[in-house]
Amino acid sequence: MFKTNKISYFNVYTIAEVGCIINRSERTVRDFIKDGLKTIDDKRPFLIRGYDLIEFLKAKNVQNRHQTSFDEMFCIKCREVRHPKARQIQIHNSNNRQFISVSAVCSVCGCTMNKAYKLEQLGDLKRNFNIVEKLSISDSGNCPVNCRLSDSINRQKNGSYKKEQLCMQFS
Ligand SMILES: [Zn+2]
Repeated sequence: MFKTNKISYFNVYTIAEVGCIINRSERTVRDFIKDGLKTIDDKRPFLIRGYDLIEFLKAKNVQNRHQTSFDEMFCIKCREVRHPKARQIQIHNSNNRQFISVSAVCSVCGCTMNKAYKLEQLGDLKRNFNIVEKLSISDSGNCPVNCRLSDSINRQKNGSYKKEQLCMQFS
């Protein structure tokens, strides 16, 4: 999480100064520039406007917040990255050949979380998690509508459901 409160909107900063403010190496700042952080022009030393930096870091914060490592999922209710409760996951069959839809219960609030994994990660999922037929520890009653996805999938077992629904928050 990058703090932007020390950056002055109308100031202009060098790479070294930016690194100092955000507590990262100059190399990281150069990577940011390659990654889309605007500089005033192409002349060296590169100079960065305060408001461009603020905008870039805010976007980066949103991106980071939703980034989950392999054994984590994003909980819609907590609005945080969480671990599946009791390492239990449920895998939903879908016709998609590239992704598998997985749901689990948030270890903090008990809501259902959903995440799409690549098909080749199935082996890792089996090694890392306890795959169950049904999430017995689920407590989706208090959940916002969006995270009751696995319930609606169960209900529509013979019907059709949209794979995109499951992948949307992580695409
Ligand atoms: Zn939660």
